[in-house]
Amino acid sequence: MTYDVIVIGAGIGGLGCAAKLARHGKKVLVLEKDRHIGGTSSIFKRRGYSFPMGPLSFSFPGLIRDILSETGVETAIDFKRNHFQLVTPSLNIIFSRPLKDIKEELKKTFVHEQRGLDAFFVELEEMISLTADIHLWHPDYRLGSASTENERSGAGADQKIARIREMSQTPCGEMLKSYFSDRRLVNFLGSQGSSPPEMSLLNLAFMWNVMCREGVWFPSCGIHGLSDLLAGVVLSNGGEIKLGTPAEKIIIRKGKAAGVRSSDGAALFSEWVVSNADCKRTFLELSDPKDIPPDFLDLISRVPYTGSELCVYLGVDPARVDLSRINAQHLFYRHREEEEKLHTPNLENFDNREFEVCLWSANEPGLVPQGKESLVLRVGLPYDRFSPFRTGEKRRKEDYQGYKMHLAQNLIRTAEHILPGLSSSIEVMETATPLTYEDWGHRHSGSIAGWTWNAEYERAFGRKLLIETPIEHLLMAGIYAASELFLGGIPTALQTANLAAGLVLS
Ligand SMILES: Cc1cc2nc3c(=O)[nH]c(=O)nc-3n(C[C@H](O)[C@H](O)[C@H](O)COP(=O)(O)OP(=O)(O)OC[C@H]3O[C@@H](n4cnc5c(N)ncnc54)[C@H](O)[C@@H]3O)c2cc1C
Repeated sequence: MTYDVIVIGAGIGGLGCAAKLARHGKKVLVLEKDRHIGGTSSIFKRRGYSFPMGPLSFSFPGLIRDILSETGVETAIDFKRNHFQLVTPSLNIIFSRPLKDIKEELKKTFVHEQRGLDAFFVELEEMISLTADIHLWHPDYRLGSASTENERSGAGADQKIARIREMSQTPCGEMLKSYFSDRRLVNFLGSQGSSPPEMSLLNLAFMWNVMCREGVWFPSCGIHGLSDLLAGVVLSNGGEIKLGTPAEKIIIRKGKAAGVRSSDGAALFSEWVVSNADCKRTFLELSDPKDIPPDFLDLISRVPYTGSELCVYLGVDPARVDLSRINAQHLFYRHREEEEKLHTPNLENFDNREFEVCLWSANEPGLVPQGKESLVLRVGLPYDRFSPFRTGEKRRKEDYQGYKMHLAQNLIRTAEHILPGLSSSIEVMETATPLTYEDWGHRHSGSIAGWTWNAEYERAFGRKLLIETPIEHLLMAGIYAASELFLGGIPTALQTANLAAGLVLS
């Protein structure tokens, strides 16, 4: 049997693309490696609690609504705003508020930096105004009609594009250090936390726009519910979704994608292939290297992804833990704030590290037993630290469980400074490591948030959208189909999915 389109992966990007194509009459097959849809936008259950495998919330709710409705989703979705708080020895701030409020609050803490704060926020507002709708006008973020749109945006367009290029090539740390002498302020404004700034000015503008203007939200259907709605559109329009059926190889003939060989050995043919597997998996594993131009292959292997993390999921009895210092759904917490020697950071002790505590049950009260709460503790940890424990897919060496437990307990011990009573309140606990994320989302090295945000690689691909590939009729959809998360995770996944479907339909 032949298809118009085979989509590899039923993550939100794969399903978004498949739904739009099926709705427009295309014969679509989605092959999913796992036995559930949704990829990382899914939940898992443990003794009465349901926890998120990945996303906790996202931005651009208006864009999500538009894309879903264009895709054929009819269910009305409400969005609840999520707030973000940072607590360190020197700061306790809710930073998901209007920029002018944040500036005034920072002025009270950093009294010697007031002039710098005024000047910095003027510049930040200017950068945000320029970039907030970048996906609507900048040719790098559009496909096909890009140059026409560029011409339409008039004489100022070249200047705007030149300014964006400059921003994308300037590490934000340079600008912040020119305004401020206090390292803590530089770190907060450059990372929305306590880490030294790494990103470009462009990503800085995206980050503050998402946090303070667009806001970060949670949908009434749950994030996993978005996948259910999209899968419903695929199926009701005659599309097929095969679970537990990994794609093993993309069939490429004379530089053009012709179908997919699935794990059961079957060759399935199609006009187009859309890959929702990440780029490294798609080109380094699912494709035959001889079919891919060497320069492109080199870029795909050389440019790094964002890293991975340790995540501790907790179901707790709120009567036994003091949650009163969490004043937002997402708390970023750092117990000590000491400069570490860069070459010997102690990654197993979290006292001097920043980590997130998400009050997950505040968004999803229906996913915990009555009267209980759930927390998600997340801290960045490198994949390499865990890879020696991996003996195969979902297979580990014996001492892995002990190591994982040791790390989880260390994290809980540090979290207890801000959540007194935490360890005695735990009713259910599960721990995910970079190895878990590698097996759950099948992401290369358990990466979490797309390609690297490091300014050094900003122009590595020379374009922002990686939807089109050097292989004819092979497209990408999902967060790795853009070289940066210009809209954040879920919206970038859906936007690239929507654009990929548009290319097939054009
Ligand atoms: C721990 C974690 C936390 C996150 N937090 C957030 C957040 O708070 N907000 C946010 O917006 N984003 C967050 N993200 C990013 C999030 O993953 C995305 O926003 C969104 O889920 C991406 O969807 P996707 O379709 O691009 O990829 P995925 O969800 O990774 O889907 C890819 C799909 O492809 C399948 N696949 C892979 N290889 C094959 C193969 N060979 N054959 C068949 N199928 C295959 C996978 O099984 C998976 O179902 C987080 C991610 C993680 C892991």
